[in-house]
Amino acid sequence: MNYQRISLGYYALVDAFAQLDLRDVPVLAHASLRSFGWVEGGADTLISALLPNVAALMMPAHTYVTMITPLAGPANNGMIYGRRQDQNRMAEPFSPNMPADRLMGIVPETLRQRPGAKRSMHPILSFTGINVDRALKSQTLEEPFAPIRMLAENDGWVLLLGVDHTVNTTVHYAEKLAGRRQFIRWALTEQGIIDCPNFPGCSAGFKPLERDLAPFTREIQVGEARVRAMPMSAIIEVVRNRLARNPRDLLCSDLTCERCNELRK
Ligand SMILES: [Zn+2]
Repeated sequence: MNYQRISLGYYALVDAFAQLDLRDVPVLAHASLRSFGWVEGGADTLISALLPNVAALMMPAHTYVTMITPLAGPANNGMIYGRRQDQNRMAEPFSPNMPADRLMGIVPETLRQRPGAKRSMHPILSFTGINVDRALKSQTLEEPFAPIRMLAENDGWVLLLGVDHTVNTTVHYAEKLAGRRQFIRWALTEQGIIDCPNFPGCSAGFKPLERDLAPFTREIQVGEARVRAMPMSAIIEVVRNRLARNPRDLLCSDLTCERCNELRK
């Protein structure tokens, strides 16, 4: 059978994103390019169409290839020490030009390479973006989600472009605010292996947030993608309420998940 997929161009995307009414707020975006169907010009067109519709654009540019699993470490840290030694041998030291992990799709890496884009320096949990210089500079090893805090303090919104809440990093920031315990991880850098405290838990159990956040969500269909935007303040409030009712809420159902099992204890 012969059928044509919807082809999306720059102007169609600009018009669609304008409906979200985010021109005056900074936005943290998470995206799956493939979810849209066919976009003429790919990730670069998607970003070009987003930029005139937001006050500032930030995306996670995380680099998991730097991560090291030690042979031993602190107890109750949601990890099995000594595992994944083969991955340790493949680990690469963080560098500012290291590509964003492929797990996050092609869009963050395309944004990072765009003229005018900056990147923060956390060896695992860096962010990239345009017009978010102060937020990026606020990140420290001790406070990896400071860029999200700064966006939230400036009425920031989260934009989910064809992805669901299991990639919504702001939920991790909200968990920390709600008092959920964080973990320590380790990263390879040019200066050797360093501690990365306040590392978040797992996000596989975040889907139930969709219903709670529905009243605060602006949703449009763009090509084949569901595009949703919601204020960070609503995410923080909803997560805080859920964890206050049940401190074991929003954990995943994978019985082998080391971090969720640790938080369930
Ligand atoms: Zn889990």
